Amino acid sequence: MTPWHALPWLALAGLAAGVVGGLAGWLAGPWVAAATWAVAGGLGLALERWVRAGTLDRLEALGRHLRGGAWPRRRDPISELDRRFREHEQSQRDQAHELRRDRAVQMAVFSASPSGVLVTDAEGHILALNPAVRRYLPVTPDSIGKRPSAAIPFAALHQVLDEVERSRVRVERGASLGRFEFELRAVPIGRGKGAMVVIQDLTELRRASRSRSAFVSNLSHELRTPITSVLGYAETLEDEELPEDVASMVEPLARNARRLSRMFDDLLNLARVEARKADLPLGHQDVGGLAREVVDGLRDTARQAGLALVCEPPAGLVARLNPEAFRTILSNLVINGIKYSAVGGAARGARVEVRLRTREVPPAVLVEVEDQGIGIDPAHLGRIFERFYRVDPGRSREVGGTGLGLAIVKHLCEASGATVAVRSMPDEGSVFTVALPL
Ligand code: ADP
Repeated sequence: MTPWHALPWLALAGLAAGVVGGLAGWLAGPWVAAATWAVAGGLGLALERWVRAGTLDRLEALGRHLRGGAWPRRRDPISELDRRFREHEQSQRDQAHELRRDRAVQMAVFSASPSGVLVTDAEGHILALNPAVRRYLPVTPDSIGKRPSAAIPFAALHQVLDEVERSRVRVERGASLGRFEFELRAVPIGRGKGAMVVIQDLTELRRASRSRSAFVSNLSHELRTPITSVLGYAETLEDEELPEDVASMVEPLARNARRLSRMFDDLLNLARVEARKADLPLGHQDVGGLAREVVDGLRDTARQAGLALVCEPPAGLVARLNPEAFRTILSNLVINGIKYSAVGGAARGARVEVRLRTREVPPAVLVEVEDQGIGIDPAHLGRIFERFYRVDPGRSREVGGTGLGLAIVKHLCEASGATVAVRSMPDEGSVFTVALPL
């Protein structure tokens, strides 16, 4: 602040104090005059400071205007405060604008999502739901703020939400309502009971999958009858005394007819499993008894391949399963163990056996089928449960494979509420583990 800016106002304040003080002295004596001068002087100074800010700003603006350029700016506290306040206001406006834009994008995605999305708050009340939820489910008009059980009459949704509220882990469930088939995926969010459920419409996908299965099943049925007849004749011819050149034609005929017949059987089995996936009857069964049954039925096959089958399940192990499905799962795994051990294990001079183990590891009973065969390279492990996926198609054909055994195992496990996993190392062997629910 330059002191001469204050001079005119100091002069004015002094003049005013002089006039008023002189008047007071003339009317009321010297002491009153002195006091009046002091008060008037103070008021004058205050007035000077108050007026100066605005006046100087105007003078500066005039100076800048007359010079047609920038005047060295003098910052007084009030205009500085004003400037900062304006800057802050502008940044607040920018932030609010960005927030509004982000929210608009989120709302557009939320509203346009083909999957239903429902969000609940920490008390388990509906916080938000998008239009897709209303498209699929009967939602009451004033649903926001209510418990889902009061706003949406759909038991499967209440169940997944209850489960997430209790367990605070992700829950997935298939469900259907009217003509719709859904997958419900719920995840916990925030604290308390908060959760988000994504309702995915699988109606079309399931319909397409059913018609594909029906097509494969019909085709297999149609082709099975002629191939059974071809196989019958080929096997009859195989048993005959035939000239060598004819026998050499009959052998591949019978071999390929057997292979086709196995493939149609597996395709039909797979189609049946897929069709019955949702309603496979399950009950508590003795796992050891069923495992022994399967192993006993395959002892001859193993012996012919030069292998021993070892199965020592502990007594009294009970799990939830479908006996027919469980037999198919186990025999497919044990047959694979035999097929892919006969070459690898024996060639390395390893123990040539396929071992079946069972043990309880709550909440499951684990059934392991272990071999010391050729093993599987880690690059293939993620794909061997796909239909027709074979690590080495030539070898699979050689040992009578169809490429469908593990796909059947996987689908039967899913239908039984079980899981199947594999650990394997090339040239060391494989362990397939089925986890059955208790
Ligand atoms: P396949 O009829 O060809 O045996 P699967 O569906 O049963 O078909 O198995 C898929 C592929 O996984 C097999 O072709 C083979 O490459 C591999 N595989 C399965 N089980 C074993 C095993 N115990 N040891 C080594 N490879 C295996």
